[in-house]
Amino acid sequence: MVPVSIPPLPADSFSRSVMMKIIIRADLCNGCEKCVNTCFEVFRFWGMDLRSSFEVPDDTPHRDKIGKAVLDCPQKAIRVVETPGAGTGEAVSS
Ligand code: SF4
Repeated sequence: MVPVSIPPLPADSFSRSVMMKIIIRADLCNGCEKCVNTCFEVFRFWGMDLRSSFEVPDDTPHRDKIGKAVLDCPQKAIRVVETPGAGTGEAVSS
């Protein structure tokens, strides 16, 4: 029998398998920064860089605050989409 070697998986292959993509509609946003004040750790990328799409790990400790920011946005400009695997936006560490 020929021995089979399996290459090691990257260290974060399983821990970051689901990401939340946060999308902000710039055409709806009024710039009030309520989301930034609710969850600065995540929404600073909108408040400081005007990055309208970014990703956070599904298991982020800021999940509740992200939900509050979505609900409290007066313009309903924030959308959260759960995506399998690292995706198209820029990842935000948490
Ligand atoms: S809370 Fe909504 S309207 Fe206010 S800055 Fe954030 S995305 Fe824009």
